[in-house]
Amino acid sequence: MIISKFHTTFNNPVEYTANWENNSILFNELIGKEISIEFTGLMICKVCNKSTKKFFGEDFCYPCFNNSPENSPCILKPELCEAHLGMGRDTEWEEKHHNQPHVVYLAATDVVKVGVTRSSQIPTRWIDQGASSVIIFAETPNRYEAGKLEVELKAFYTDKTNYRKMLQNEIDKNIDLIEEKWQTVEQLPSDLQTFISENDVITELTYPVITYPKSVQVLNLDKTPLIKGRLNGIKGQYLLFENDLAINIRRHTGYDIQLIY
Ligand SMILES: [Zn+2]
Ligand SMILES: [Zn+2]
Repeated sequence: MIISKFHTTFNNPVEYTANWENNSILFNELIGKEISIEFTGLMICKVCNKSTKKFFGEDFCYPCFNNSPENSPCILKPELCEAHLGMGRDTEWEEKHHNQPHVVYLAATDVVKVGVTRSSQIPTRWIDQGASSVIIFAETPNRYEAGKLEVELKAFYTDKTNYRKMLQNEIDKNIDLIEEKWQTVEQLPSDLQTFISENDVITELTYPVITYPKSVQVLNLDKTPLIKGRLNGIKGQYLLFENDLAINIRRHTGYDIQLIY
């Protein structure tokens, strides 16, 4: 069956469902059990559904890598988005996905990270990143405005997740997101304060994990086509196995596998 990223349900802990082809597998129920994932060698582009020998930008065939709106520069750099101007690679797609309310958020793990997502992707995006606690910083009418603010906030915070520390569950418990947010707001120029959110609710996320690894090795199916062992838990979009091994399911979108459990 073809891998796509886990569908997640916000619960305590988060619930992970694999909707792979005609199957719907609740992976939380596989934790503590032996599973095996074997790559068949077939790879399918998630956009055009055609098979490809190689993926570009992780899960696109070459034409879709170049042309798909899902791989536009404004995906990774929201400040380049032109959806609010009625422009972009695919204006219909941009209107539906990017000319929509977005949030800028601060997420705490070992450090504070800044990120941007469409409001309708909350808390999915936060779960996918394996965040421990999150606060909304600003609410904007479109992706571009959120991106502009994120660029400013990169002077204070990283925008990258350190996946190793995330998987090892290294959390700085001293981080106070409300204090962090309002201290930073004070330092912003006034023209950037328009969209600051008054919502100070902190979303806490917990993951179904028996034990976190002390150190972690992330495998991929290109180099290790057969991955098997006892499943220790799930965090972000990663499966954690015994023996400190992990695999990023999202990164394998489009890979055809045989799953045995
Ligand atoms: Zn394609
Ligand atoms: Zn865009």
